[in-house]
Amino acid sequence: MFLTVDAGNLWQAGEQGLLQPLQSTLVNTNVPQKYRADNDLWTGLSLRARTIFYDPAKVAPTDLSTYADLADPKWRGKLCLRTAKKVYNQSLVASMIEHYGEEKTEEIVKGWVANLAAPVFSNDTKMLEAIAAGQCEVGIANSYYYGRILEENPDFPVKIFWPNQGANGTDATGVHVNVSGAGIVKNADNVVGARQLIEWLSSDTAQGEYASGDKEYPVKAGIDESDMLRSWGPFKQDDINVSVFGQRQGEAVKLMDRAGYE
Ligand code: FE
Repeated sequence: MFLTVDAGNLWQAGEQGLLQPLQSTLVNTNVPQKYRADNDLWTGLSLRARTIFYDPAKVAPTDLSTYADLADPKWRGKLCLRTAKKVYNQSLVASMIEHYGEEKTEEIVKGWVANLAAPVFSNDTKMLEAIAAGQCEVGIANSYYYGRILEENPDFPVKIFWPNQGANGTDATGVHVNVSGAGIVKNADNVVGARQLIEWLSSDTAQGEYASGDKEYPVKAGIDESDMLRSWGPFKQDDINVSVFGQRQGEAVKLMDRAGYE
């Protein structure tokens, strides 16, 4: 089987003919359609929220609103981002192209680049640590990296914010969520075993582990979240079908390049 992060990666594997259909009614029952490939080649197994983090000593949550707002000149010299080479940011920008169109998205990404406080970071953890160190005031990262830092250091001086929770239009698109997931490779020796493992990963037991052990969110509804996840509060998530992150990946990469996002 092929087990990886990001719908962009799963979609590419499907496009390149590496996977065979999952054919599992159990997975189809456990995992909502928007987290699975339309052609049944892969399924999401955990949800990851890519959201905004801030330094509460310098920023009030009322200063924050949307991913697009981070392009506003009020954040000049205050924003930190991970590299555009990471698929997570390619998927985020792909989702923005879907919501805003290409022209407006390019304007936003150019604004982000203009607001950078430091060169782009190689990973989300370093970016979060830069906020804690006072190098920047706001940034974008996946929430489980934050959760893993908090587990080691409950006093970590960075706060989480859920963007795009507005009432209408592009302010209301919700938090960008992506998946980790799996598919069965075309030449698998043990197709039945692979399917059973993927089915188990979609079960209540494994879904609970994604939430408590890994600090991600379950894809399956009705799973009890950990205390830490509950403490971050509920949020409206972007309802976009995650396959879009793969379909628009090429456009996103070119757009970020044009915008000077490295
Ligand atoms: Fe990650």
